[in-house]
Parts: sequence; structure tokens; C-alpha cells
Amino acid sequence: MCGRPDKFDFQVPDDIWRLIVPSKYQTKVVCLACFDDFATARDIDYSMSLRTLYFAGGKTSFKFEVCGGDR
Ligand SMILES: [Zn+2]
Repeated sequence: MCGRPDKFDFQVPDDIWRLIVPSKYQTKVVCLACFDDFATARDIDYSMSLRTLYFAGGKTSFKFEVCGGDR
């Protein structure tokens, strides 16, 4: 939505997504930087809800998985 090249892809539960992302952007692609801005504006800590973070670079890609927690 911000036009920045988005190389991070991430997964959060739908209820967290709806809580943090404004409704007009919920069906759009929101990068992690913008998602974090929304969460900060709403004072929501989503760290326990972030499930998987992908980084898709030009040469390589990574998948980060959250360890621990109850998910
Ligand atoms: Zn963005």
C-alpha cells in the first residue's frame, strides 16, 4: 500500500489482521513496515501473533518461524 518494495511477507491470524489493519486496507497488500505502523498507532503488541516471517530477496529467501509460545 505504501509503494515501498516489499520483500517481507508475514502471516498473522485473521482476527489480529482485522484488529490492526484499517478496513479499507484489509483486502490489500500491507507490508510489515506499514503493519507495524498500524499496530503502533493502535498500541497493539502483535509479537505473540506473528507466526511466520518470510524474506524474499533477489538472491535468496529466508523463512523465519516463531519458536515457543502457545501457537
Ligand atoms: Zn507498506
